[in-house]
Amino acid sequence: MKSKWTDDKPRPYYAKYERVPVQNGQNWYEVYRLPGNVLGICEPNQFQEVNFFLIPGSERALLLDTGMGICPVKPLIEELCPGEVVVVNSHFHFDHIAGNHNFKAVYAFDDPYVRRVAAEGLPKEALGNQLEEIMFRYGYPEGFSPDSFRIPPYHMIPVQDGDVFDLGDRKLTVYHTPGHSHDGIMLFDEENRLLFTGDTFYPGALYAHFDNDEFGKFSMADYIASFERMSELIPRLDYLMCSHRDFTAPPVKLKEAANALKAIDAGEVLDERDVDEGHTYLEDGSRLCEALFDGFSVVYKKTV
Ligand SMILES: [Zn+2]
Repeated sequence: MKSKWTDDKPRPYYAKYERVPVQNGQNWYEVYRLPGNVLGICEPNQFQEVNFFLIPGSERALLLDTGMGICPVKPLIEELCPGEVVVVNSHFHFDHIAGNHNFKAVYAFDDPYVRRVAAEGLPKEALGNQLEEIMFRYGYPEGFSPDSFRIPPYHMIPVQDGDVFDLGDRKLTVYHTPGHSHDGIMLFDEENRLLFTGDTFYPGALYAHFDNDEFGKFSMADYIASFERMSELIPRLDYLMCSHRDFTAPPVKLKEAANALKAIDAGEVLDERDVDEGHTYLEDGSRLCEALFDGFSVVYKKTV
C-alpha cells in the first residue's frame, strides 16, 4: 500500500499549544492545553491523528470521546482528572469509542448503528486498513497487538438535541449534526465561545461517503443542513475544537464547509484528485475522490 502518511513530516500545529507533561501517556498519547481551559489529548502517531477532549468544570469534567484503544487510556484520564468524569461520544466511529468500555457509561446520540456497536463492540476487521503497520508513524507501540485488537461493548445512555451537560461553572449544549455520520453531535460551550465539532468538521479530509454497517450511512443533504444550522453560531464562537489533526480551527470554516459540500453536490468541483489510500478504509479507493479547499478537503464518491 502507498500512503502519504509514511512520507509526512511531524505536524507543526502541535507547537502552537503548551504541552502538558504526563506520567501515563504510554509513549502514545500527548496532552496539550487549549483555549478555554480545555485539555486536548491526541494520538499523533497513527494515520487518524485523532483528538479527544477533557473539559473541566467546577463539579465534574466531561470527556469527549475515548480514542482508538491502541494503548490504555484510563490511567491517563485518572491522572488528568481524579474527580467525576462524564463521558460523551461525538459519534460512534471506531477512532472515537475504543476506550468507552473503561467507563461506567457513555452518553451518545441514539441511533440504530450506535446501539448495535454499544451492545456488540467491533471486531478488528471493522477498522479495515487502519491497523496495518503502515498506518503507524513509528510502527506498533509497545504492548499493542493488532491480531488481538477489538473494541469491547459499552453501556450507552442516549442523548438528544438540546440536552445540556452541566459541569458546574460550565454548560455544554448538544446539537445533533448528522451528515458525516447520522449520530454526529456537536457540543456548544457558550460561555467560553467554543464549539466541539467532532468529525463533522476538522482541518483535514472530511469523509462524505460512508454507507456500511461499520460507519453508518452518510447523507449529503443532512451534512449541508448541519453546516448551515451551525454556521448561525459563528458570531458567538472563537474556536472550533476539532477531532482530527489540529485541535482548533476558525469558526468561519463552518460556512466554508457548507459551501464546499454544496459545490460538490451540484457537480461544480473541477479539481478532483484520486484519494490517498489511507483514507479508503473498507472501500475500493477507485470509487472515491478528494476535492481540496482552503484548510480542508472532502472525500466523496465519484459520480461517474
Ligand atoms: Zn474520526
